[in-house]
Amino acid sequence: MTDDTIDEQESLGAAPAVRRLADWDRERLTSLADEHGTPLYVFDPARVRENCRRLQNAFPDAEIQYAAKAHTARRTLETVHDAGLAIECASAGEVVRALDAGVPGSAVTYTAVNPPARDLAVVVDAWEANPDLTITAGAADTIDRLAERGFDGRLRLRVNPGVGAGHHEKVVTGGHPKFGVGLDRAPALAARIDRAFEFAGIHAHAGSGISGDDLADHRELVRRLGELARTLDAEGIPVGTIDVGGGFGVPYRGDAPALDLDAVAEATRAALGEVDATLAIEPGRYVVADAGVLLTRVNTVKETPEMVVAGVDAGMTTLLRPAMYDAYHAVRSLAPEASDRGQVGVTVAGPACETADLLCENRPLPRPALGDLLAIGNAGAYGYEMASTYNSRPRPAEVTVDGDPLRRRESLADVARLDAPEEQKRRGKECDR
Ligand SMILES: *Cc1c(COP(=O)(O)O)cnc(C)c1O
Repeated sequence: MTDDTIDEQESLGAAPAVRRLADWDRERLTSLADEHGTPLYVFDPARVRENCRRLQNAFPDAEIQYAAKAHTARRTLETVHDAGLAIECASAGEVVRALDAGVPGSAVTYTAVNPPARDLAVVVDAWEANPDLTITAGAADTIDRLAERGFDGRLRLRVNPGVGAGHHEKVVTGGHPKFGVGLDRAPALAARIDRAFEFAGIHAHAGSGISGDDLADHRELVRRLGELARTLDAEGIPVGTIDVGGGFGVPYRGDAPALDLDAVAEATRAALGEVDATLAIEPGRYVVADAGVLLTRVNTVKETPEMVVAGVDAGMTTLLRPAMYDAYHAVRSLAPEASDRGQVGVTVAGPACETADLLCENRPLPRPALGDLLAIGNAGAYGYEMASTYNSRPRPAEVTVDGDPLRRRESLADVARLDAPEEQKRRGKECDR
């Protein structure tokens, strides 16, 4: 064993299973907000490494593919790849960014969900230059469209296992007809892939939010995939890889326990049964969620009979999850004397004229004051990625906890740049006449 691997094992032994919002250094976060302004995402690549290693320890024989859509900063893709994970991409854009970040084609999978023609064109081009990348198809006509474009490389079949799981109905994918082909149709399609392409296995994704409670659904999904693999094997179609998707949950509430990864791994192996194939998983959130926080500053304090409303400079355009999924994110006041102020019910509200634009509602927190800095926890996954420019609000900046830039703050000029140029506007008016 080299000194390096000893170091790695020791650092993993010391790394907690979950990083809570309270664990982030107040002074560090405060100085980053002072230097870079708010709203500001702060991200810690070292924590990403720890999360990768914990996954590798729990799933030592599995192919672990990071679902890039959770956090696509180049530095994150590099960190994850350097830690030994492959990359699962949800779009052609993510494929291009993964390859640009130095990830080899053999470690890139593109999961095609109703793939636009432009995506297929870009991915097939990328495949020509990187012939060992893998595409996962979830509809018979996606397979036809790939063949028409001359693709005959590694192709995985996404099946619909008929079970789903998730923290919110909008992220439960496993049972929805949108995703994958029915189990009954899978053998014929696998045979077709096996004839015309390089059959690279079967795939399913139950949704997001595997937790202790949801393991029954996960077990059932894996059991059905194991059964399908044995059926295909008996028909002379070796499966190679059984990809059971992502959805490994993280504790958003301060008092929720960390996911027992070893229990998930054990349940997965048991449910899979005897198969002659490699297990693959696709965690996204688990890798990056607790590696990021969002910092926002209080600009308005309003006492109402029901609660105190703290208006802040971040909202649904910065962190969409509360508005879109009713998601809970921990909130911490970083005001130096916050603990002396006493707790009140606080609603943290963004600047958009939408009732959904709340980061939390009537939550017991230290009484807010103008200028306070607040930290929002578990913002590393689907935080920056889902930010928008709604309300012509430029997207925030993101820096590492060491102050290195990950994504620069967008300017109003960036947002306005896509407006039709004056000349086009003038011509448009002439046409209207
Ligand atoms: C989104 C997605 C994932 C990752 O989900 P997480 O909840 O972030 O782990 C994995 N696989 C597929 C196909 C996905 O769409």
